[in-house]
Amino acid sequence: MRWFVRNRRALSRIALFLCLAFLVWYGWRFHSVKRKRCVADTFPGIAMGTTVKKTIYSENSRINQEADEAIDACLKELEETISVRDPHSELSLLNANYVTGGINRLSELLYSCIEREIEIRKETDGAFSPCIRPVSELWGIEDGNGRVPEQGQLKKALTLSDPDQMELTENGLVFHQYGMKLDLGAVGKGLACDRIAGLLRGRKVQGAVVSVGGSVAVIGDKGKLEAWHVGIQDPRGKEGDMLGVLTCEEDAMISTSGDYEKYFEVDGKRYHHIFDPSTGYPADSGLISVTVVSGNGFLSDALSTACFVMGLDRGMEYVRSRKAEAIFVTSDRKVIVTKGLKHSFSVTAKGYETEIR
Ligand code: ADP
Ligand code: MG
Repeated sequence: MRWFVRNRRALSRIALFLCLAFLVWYGWRFHSVKRKRCVADTFPGIAMGTTVKKTIYSENSRINQEADEAIDACLKELEETISVRDPHSELSLLNANYVTGGINRLSELLYSCIEREIEIRKETDGAFSPCIRPVSELWGIEDGNGRVPEQGQLKKALTLSDPDQMELTENGLVFHQYGMKLDLGAVGKGLACDRIAGLLRGRKVQGAVVSVGGSVAVIGDKGKLEAWHVGIQDPRGKEGDMLGVLTCEEDAMISTSGDYEKYFEVDGKRYHHIFDPSTGYPADSGLISVTVVSGNGFLSDALSTACFVMGLDRGMEYVRSRKAEAIFVTSDRKVIVTKGLKHSFSVTAKGYETEIR
């Protein structure tokens, strides 16, 4: 008995330790059980001219199904505003019917998209353009009619793609020449990811991975013990072949732009769909793919396109200034990864050399 009294301090510490250990074990076990109860459903689809895949985790399939329907409605609404494929969208109607030299009123959404694109254009010294459409239409790559345009036609299209000839005022957009056209193709899918994330966060969804073409939103979790793994396309592999896997511990928006998505070839030369606004030709910066990771989908998407045009050094500098992370792939098969992704991205494809910068 005296031994117990003498050692009561040590004994109470041991008891406390055992209690804590039990609580940790019980908490972990409970968490695992909760995770097991989490149901995952995958919904394939097509929207914004590309494939959409949603994997949604929640307590039950009814919640997942409802979230899927909400995402479809959200994508439809977005297409009605910014799609160039839908002739009745706000953007198409604006492109077809604007008044030259006067104010054209815009919805709040379209206004904010153009405002952000103009900002990115400034920051990239023109590598990114909000009105590249006359050039991209001329090349015909989007609609499957790829052809190398004549010099004269290209020169004219370049004049019509000059962002200095448009001006965003407080009340709307002014085009100073007739024939200009806006293009939100470089940001649409990333913007879709932002809106999907916004709507899922307001629901009883535990986590989701949603891909809209080359843009992916990773939201919430599938149970704290697991991270998300997102495959990045090998730009010189078959569709679905992975360059590597990106591990995301928290919410992230990931966008990839590459010369392998939409292109045609003439005499062994590849002509793809990302244009250098200073030449009107497909960008030839030595990069074949750029993936950008940030907390914002619009930004990731805009940056992946802009960096593809800017090339490795300028692109890297711009990504840093925007506090984003990136994976650059060069035509001589080097993969350059920003420091922030050092532990979360690993190249699995063969024949690439990796560098952390
Ligand atoms: P994808 O649409 O295949 O996901 P991107 O996000 O890189 O790829 O966007 C490419 C689209 O952006 C092109 O189809 C075109 O509509 C538009 N675009 C092409 N070049 C530029 C550019 N320099 N600046 C802004 N938009 C561009
Ligand atoms: Mg883009």
